[in-house]
Amino acid sequence: MSRFADYNIKNITPYVPGEQPKVQRYIKLNTNENPYPPSPDSIAAAMSETHKYNLYPDPECSELTQKLAEEFSVGFENILIGNGSDELLAFIFQGFCEGGVAFPDITYGFYKVYSELYNRTPEIIPLKEDFSIDCNDYLRLDKTIVIANPNAPTGMVLQLDEIEKILQCNDNNLIVIDEAYVDFGAVSSICLVEKYDNLIVVGTFSKSRSLAGARVGYAVSNRDIIDDLKKIKFSFNPYSLNRATLAAASASISDRIYFEECISKIISTREKFKLNLDKMGYLQTDSKANFVFIKHPYLSGKDVFERLKKGGILVRHFEKERIVDYLRITIGNDEDMEFVTKALSKLVVK
Ligand SMILES: *Cc1c(COP(=O)(O)O)cnc(C)c1O
Repeated sequence: MSRFADYNIKNITPYVPGEQPKVQRYIKLNTNENPYPPSPDSIAAAMSETHKYNLYPDPECSELTQKLAEEFSVGFENILIGNGSDELLAFIFQGFCEGGVAFPDITYGFYKVYSELYNRTPEIIPLKEDFSIDCNDYLRLDKTIVIANPNAPTGMVLQLDEIEKILQCNDNNLIVIDEAYVDFGAVSSICLVEKYDNLIVVGTFSKSRSLAGARVGYAVSNRDIIDDLKKIKFSFNPYSLNRATLAAASASISDRIYFEECISKIISTREKFKLNLDKMGYLQTDSKANFVFIKHPYLSGKDVFERLKKGGILVRHFEKERIVDYLRITIGNDEDMEFVTKALSKLVVK
C-alpha cells in the first residue's frame, strides 16, 4: 500500500475472481462461464459496431432497454443497463444501504466486498444447516436485504411466495434479488416489481447468455428507484457500456432460439451430472444453476480440488470455514462433464 491511499482503502479485502489460466491447459469449470459461444447474431452485431468506435455509445442504451422491456413485460422506465450486474449491485450498495445491509453468510462474495467499499455495516445471516435460506430470518430486519436467487455457490432456490413474504414484511426497506442464474431453473421475481415498490431485481448476460466477456447486466424496478440508480450511473460514467456490447446483447435477446437451445443443453447436462454424483456417493445441494456444489464423502475439499487440478480440471474452492470441504463445479458441455465424472469416480474407489 502506498502512503497516499485513503484510510478507507486500507481495510478493503477485494473480491478474488476464479483463476483465469493464461494457457488453455485446463477444462475450466471455476467461474460459471457458459461453455457455448455467444449467439452468431451477437458476434456479427458486435463486429459491425467497431467502425463506429470514434463515436460515443448511446448513454441511455435505448435499443437494449426497449428489447428487455418487451422481454420482461415492463416499461422502458423500469430498466437500467449496467456494465455487468456487478456495476448495478455496486450502485445499490452505494446509494441504498445507509441503514445497513443484510445478506446470507454463504452467498456471492461481492456483497461483502461492496459493504466494505461503501462503508456499509453488513448483517450476516447464516443459512440453515442444509444451506437453505429460511425466509423467516429476513422478516423485519429494517435494512436493505440482498439475496441471490438461485443462491451462489449453493444453487438453491427460494420460491416466489417466500420472496413475497420477505417483501411484505419489509415494506419500508429495499429487497434486492440477484438473478444471475435464474434462467437455469428458477422463477424470476420480475413479475413482482409492479406489485411491490421495495423490490429491485438484478440480472446479467454473463451466465445464461454467454456474454461474460462483454460485460452487461440490468436492474428492473419501479421508475423512482431506476431514476435514483440512473442518477448514480450518470454521476459516474454514462458510457459504461460500449457499442459492441450493446449490439451483442440486443442481438442475444432477439435470437431466442439459440438462447433456449443453450439453456436446455446446460440443464440436461447438469441433471445427468447430478445423477452421476449421487451414484458415486458425493453429497450435493439441489442446484438449479449452471453449477453444482458438492462434497466428497471423506476427502477434504482442498484435496479434491488439488487432485482435479492435477487431472487438468479447474473448479472453485472457497477458503471459508463452513464450506471448506465443498467445491463448486460449473456445468460445461457433455464431454467436459464426462471427463469430470471419470476423474471424480477415481477419487471414490474404496
Ligand atoms: C456472476 C454473478 C454476478 C455478476 O455478473 P456480471 O454481470 O458478470 O457482473 C452477480 N451475481 C452473482 C450471484 C453472480 O454469480
